[in-house]
Amino acid sequence: MVSQEIETLASALARLPGLGPRSARRVVLWLVKRRETALPALIEALAQVGETLVECDICGNVDTSNPCGICADPRRDTKAICVVEDVADLWALDRAKLFTGTYHVLGGRLSALDGVRPEDLDVAGLLARVERGGVDEVVLAMNATLEGQTTAHYLAERLEAFSIRITQLAHGLPVGGELDYLDEGTLAQALRARRPVG
Ligand SMILES: [Zn+2]
Repeated sequence: MVSQEIETLASALARLPGLGPRSARRVVLWLVKRRETALPALIEALAQVGETLVECDICGNVDTSNPCGICADPRRDTKAICVVEDVADLWALDRAKLFTGTYHVLGGRLSALDGVRPEDLDVAGLLARVERGGVDEVVLAMNATLEGQTTAHYLAERLEAFSIRITQLAHGLPVGGELDYLDEGTLAQALRARRPVG
C-alpha cells in the first residue's frame, strides 16, 4: 500500500522521457532514501529552473535569460544561423563546440502524418532574421529522418530568394538518426563536412 503522494510523484516521473513506471518507482525509492541529502537539492534546482526559464525571442532556445546566453554572446558569429528542429538538437550541437554561429529553433518538423504545417513551425521568424540582413549562411541541421529532410527541403526553397549560402549537415549521419542521440564527435564531423544544398 503506497500513499497517494508517492503514487502522484511516481506517475509524474513516469511521464519523463526515458523513464517508464518501473524506473520512476526506482527513482522515488532512491529519493526517499536520500530525502535528507539529494531531495532538497533536487527541489531547489527544479524550483530555480521553473522560475527562471524563458524562451529566447531571437532563436527559440530555452535558457534562464532572454536573449539566451548564445544570442547574447558577442563572440558568436551572427552571420551564420544553424536551424534545428528542437531545443534538444541545439543543445546537442552546441555541446560539440564546433559551430560558432547562432541558432534558430523551428519547434518541430513538417509532418503530413501529424498535421504539422509550415505555419506551425517558426519559419517566419527564421525568414525575418535572414531578411534583416547580415546573414551569410544558413545551415539546415534537421534530423536524418524523412520528415527532417522534407523540412530541410522546404526551408531551402523558402531561402532560395536570398543571396546566402544554404548548407546542410554532411551525409554520414545515420538514417533516421536524431541529432540528440549522436555523440559529439559524429556531430562535429557532420557540421565540419557540411555541404551546399541542391
Ligand atoms: Zn537565443
